[in-house]
Amino acid sequence: MLEDIKEILITEEEIKNKLRELGEKITRDYKDKDNVLVVGVLKGAVLFIADLIRHIQLPVQLDFMAVSSYGASTKSSGVVRILKDLDEEVEGKHILIVEDIIDSGLTLSYLYSMLKSRKPASIKICTLLDKPSRRKVDIEVDYLGFEIPDLFVVGYGLDYNEKYRNLPFIGILKPEVVKPADNPD
Ligand code: 5GP
Ligand code: MG
Ligand code: MG
Repeated sequence: MLEDIKEILITEEEIKNKLRELGEKITRDYKDKDNVLVVGVLKGAVLFIADLIRHIQLPVQLDFMAVSSYGASTKSSGVVRILKDLDEEVEGKHILIVEDIIDSGLTLSYLYSMLKSRKPASIKICTLLDKPSRRKVDIEVDYLGFEIPDLFVVGYGLDYNEKYRNLPFIGILKPEVVKPADNPD
């Protein structure tokens, strides 16, 4: 698997340090709230959310949603489909959406309005990665891990054709690993 990686963009150590920082900030910001629901977006955010909530020193609830926007390609189709909705009620709760990466912003902007319509007390967004240069809609990010350039990244939850999610770092694939149709070059 490591032989498929061209470059490590963010190391395991850098991720670890950032999670501690984000967790402490979230703990401070939500310390007076007793109804916090942390919502992970499957599957990309699974590693991030699992590690992040260990640094949130509050009795938060945890739930997941699954949406599809990309299919097997590395390009956004702009179409968001709900594959799995939340199990928990949203009304009156402080919602913290946890995403792996914001690219065009279309996925999150859709999720945000959908959750907002369920009358939460508040909604905030936490993302591990952000590619601001690719944004198509305005999104206000409350907690950000790392800003990255316009590159297709894998690892720490992020996939290429459902693979490489289990890499402990964020990296980019060698061009020969990426199918020609998915390759921007
Ligand atoms: P958006 O709707 O913001 O364009 O796309 C968000 C989703 O697209 C992310 O949650 C992620 O699943 C996928 N995505 C965007 N950029 C990348 C990337 O560089 N690598 C991977 N693996 N997925 C990405
Ligand atoms: Mg995602
Ligand atoms: Mg994906």
